[in-house]
Amino acid sequence: MLDFDVAQAQLVQAGNPIQHIEDVPLHQARGRILARSLDAHLDMPPADNSAMDGYAIRFADYEPGRGLPVQQRCFAGEQPQPLHAGHSIRLFTGSVIPEGADTVVMQEDCTETDNVLFINEKPSIGQNIRRRGEDIHKDSVLLPAGVRIGAAQIALLASQGYNRVPVFARLKIGVLTTGDELIEPGKPLQAAQIYNSNGPMLAALVEGLGADAVHVLHAPDTLEATEKALATLIADCDLVLSVGGVSVGEKDLVKPAIEQAGGKLDMWRVRMKPGKPVALAHAQGKPIVCLPGNPVSAFAVFALLVAPLVRKMQGREQWLPPVEHARLDAQAPFNDTRDEFIRVRAAHGQNGETRLSVFDRQGSGVVSSLPWSDGLARIPAGQKFGPGDLVPYYSWAHWLV
Ligand code: AMP
Ligand code: MG
Repeated sequence: MLDFDVAQAQLVQAGNPIQHIEDVPLHQARGRILARSLDAHLDMPPADNSAMDGYAIRFADYEPGRGLPVQQRCFAGEQPQPLHAGHSIRLFTGSVIPEGADTVVMQEDCTETDNVLFINEKPSIGQNIRRRGEDIHKDSVLLPAGVRIGAAQIALLASQGYNRVPVFARLKIGVLTTGDELIEPGKPLQAAQIYNSNGPMLAALVEGLGADAVHVLHAPDTLEATEKALATLIADCDLVLSVGGVSVGEKDLVKPAIEQAGGKLDMWRVRMKPGKPVALAHAQGKPIVCLPGNPVSAFAVFALLVAPLVRKMQGREQWLPPVEHARLDAQAPFNDTRDEFIRVRAAHGQNGETRLSVFDRQGSGVVSSLPWSDGLARIPAGQKFGPGDLVPYYSWAHWLV
């Protein structure tokens, strides 16, 4: 059996970063991966400006009780006049600092009578001024290649005047579900059938990472149908995910279908629960990852093993999200051979630490554990873990984005 961390590191090697770059409007860049590092066009802020509503003065003009006539009122977007000696200029947060001024006194510390400023608190030189370039220097790296663009990155790019961004083409992923017992949601359920939950689930997981689920195909348990669906997926996608039909049961047709497509299936027995049977193949240069059929296993294996590969293929800089450590609130199941990844819910305990409660049914068919949970706690094999013990915690918030 393969150790979980080894399997995770090896699976990332199964694919390469996408090369194709597109130029998209900024407002369509959310969720995409930046393809080139972008430099700052401008100093930010572009000029010294006021951090407060108040008055610009020369510090040297200040004396207790002295009046400084207000020379100008300078609103946002207006260019101030040079400040005359012995005067002040009324300004507002973000106003450009007038030439000759070196200090801003905030309005709460002042009285203005008949256009003359009186300062009630002794100022200090340079106060309340945001300096040109203190946030960003022109020509410095604004964002490195490989970041996923969200609202924060869009704000930064917009503040620099970018209206288009180079991003990697969306990674195309195809999903194949298998099984005679499965029927699509929306159709009436016949005896001995279950609804296909893995198809919609995997499509949503793929889209959550910012990749495209270009096909979600279902094949009943015949070699012909499985081969046909696989051929479409391999032709149209960068990465193929199949789910179910890959153990050694009589109706496990994914292996022969992949061989028919020219691939060789490498069966991995990973020392993890859920999800021991995971398989990898390449056909026509495209990686195919075969996931276990139980929805909970497929979900966990996707998050822990497939998502890092997807991130790498998307061109991201970070493939493995952070693993936190958190304290269990309850007894964990004991497993003497495999690391167990159990569904947990996180809450804030004392001292701001994260406490994990454990779902009461950890079977790999228990789909209700998924929406209940915030992530997976890892219970290393061969050790007993109970209330108060610190364990690695893989939160969906990091691992599914
Ligand atoms: P298999 O590996 O094909 O034997 O599947 C293992 C278990 O997962 C079986 O109980 C299947 O019914 C179930 N399963 C497989 N694929 C799906 C699916 N797409 N949706 C829901 N359950 C599935
Ligand atoms: Mg099956």
